[in-house]
Amino acid sequence: MDDKVKALLERVKGTANYAADAAADGARAAGKRAGQMVDVAKLNVQLFDLNGEYNDLLRELGQVMYSTHLGQAADPEQVTALLAQADEKSGRIAELKGRISDLRQSQTCPGCGAPCGKSDKFCRACGAQL
Ligand SMILES: [Zn+2]
Repeated sequence: MDDKVKALLERVKGTANYAADAAADGARAAGKRAGQMVDVAKLNVQLFDLNGEYNDLLRELGQVMYSTHLGQAADPEQVTALLAQADEKSGRIAELKGRISDLRQSQTCPGCGAPCGKSDKFCRACGAQL
């Protein structure tokens, strides 16, 4: 690997763990807010926007890497901030995909409340008709 890029990555690594912890906290908080009934179409619009923002961040990170390769000094804190933002977007994308999948693929048994497949005719837990 390019020595300048390698040096930048070394400097970023020190603060990356902190950023990962912060992102995990954000994901946990987002998980608590989940459970509200929102329709799949709305979630898909959010997912589309988030994917765009995530790709912009990755492009920006790529530009910083390439600038470093060309000899322009990169600010490790800027890179760390970009990585933290990318982690945050990535966590939100995963959370949204999970919620969309839950809304699409499951229904709740009216008898016992167990999660069942959308096409199930009977509850797998108690046998009630769905
Ligand atoms: Zn049931």
